[in-house]
Amino acid sequence: MAEPVRSGMSNKVAKLSFWGVRGSTPTVDRATWRYGGNTPCLELVAPDGTQFILDCGTGLRVLGKRWAEIHGTNSIEAHIFVTHYHWDHIQGIPFFSPLYAGQNRFHFYSFRSEFLGRDSLKQVFEAQMAYPYFPVDLSAMSAARQFSEVTDRDQFEINGTRITARMLNHPQGCFGFRFETSAGTIVYATDNEPGVPKLDQSLRELAADADIFINDAQYTPEQLTTTRKGWGHSSWLAGVKVAQEAGVRNLVLFHHDPDSTDKIVDGVLRDARQKFESVWAASEGMVMSLGEERVEVIMPTTRGGLRQEGHFRARVTGYTEEGRAFQEETVLRDLTLQGALIYLNHSPRLQSELQVTMESPGDEGQNHNHLRFRGYVVRLEPGPEKDQTAVGIVFTE
Ligand SMILES: [Zn+2]
Ligand SMILES: [Zn+2]
Repeated sequence: MAEPVRSGMSNKVAKLSFWGVRGSTPTVDRATWRYGGNTPCLELVAPDGTQFILDCGTGLRVLGKRWAEIHGTNSIEAHIFVTHYHWDHIQGIPFFSPLYAGQNRFHFYSFRSEFLGRDSLKQVFEAQMAYPYFPVDLSAMSAARQFSEVTDRDQFEINGTRITARMLNHPQGCFGFRFETSAGTIVYATDNEPGVPKLDQSLRELAADADIFINDAQYTPEQLTTTRKGWGHSSWLAGVKVAQEAGVRNLVLFHHDPDSTDKIVDGVLRDARQKFESVWAASEGMVMSLGEERVEVIMPTTRGGLRQEGHFRARVTGYTEEGRAFQEETVLRDLTLQGALIYLNHSPRLQSELQVTMESPGDEGQNHNHLRFRGYVVRLEPGPEKDQTAVGIVFTE
């Protein structure tokens, strides 16, 4: 199993789910499918059950659908933190179905924009739903809504979770938020650019000793010093530096550029792992459970597809969690167009790449027709036999 680092003891678990991880604009290209195309939205459930939403990008629509399934007509209460007012962080609001049900209650937290003045977020709601931009009138949003203004360095508590807000370096401002739950600390620092010493220091203070630190990794280190300098975003390398200096345990690279294909993000993750032990590339559907002495990461599995029951012999090469190369013969099970389940004696690393060479189905070895795939590890579970690992992979090519 993947064992990201976690210190301290706790019997309770905080659960962090990624519903949108893409920066700037949603993407629907096939090439960005694996990490996902929805704009920022995270769900954090504190150990006591209090629900937090971090940002309202297009991922919020999907979260709303999920909640509607789970809660039905029961009431929902949640605390929604909006980091700033750029489109990619608010565009999911009109499509969040729980806002249209009178039994629900939402508390919104954001800052007073110098461009909007008082009740900034409330004004964003009104503007987004004004004619002719949206067909539904604001009055249809029947859920109770409460708006709180947060200022730089504010600290407050919600049902036992301590929250700290820090302004980050981003055009028109952006908040980073720290959530100290009884199971551990999560810091959400999207949209920020390094280079302003006072704000760089503030980010390090916000991230200090965090169990999970989510940081903007939109650009490459090269872009950040050249063509994208001053655009308000960061790189995996800058994130690694903050993580090292602030004593962070797990770093999550977030806010992927809309032009970053899955392969580019794979490369970014590979580079980052050379410099920092426990780093993850945010992926739509990824869930991080924080507690019980460690962080557990669960990746989204394949999204259906044509399933073919069968046992195809295959040779798999890859790297273990300790970074050792391995090769072994196995069989592919639960083969779909997108992925497969395999049982291995080795335990590859989550979000690492495996090479799979397979005899083509139906070919009894007559003319050595081999199929070659690259697989990306999305799931690790104990296998049916002792010392075996059940490895879920999605095919990348
Ligand atoms: Zn953004
Ligand atoms: Zn922004």
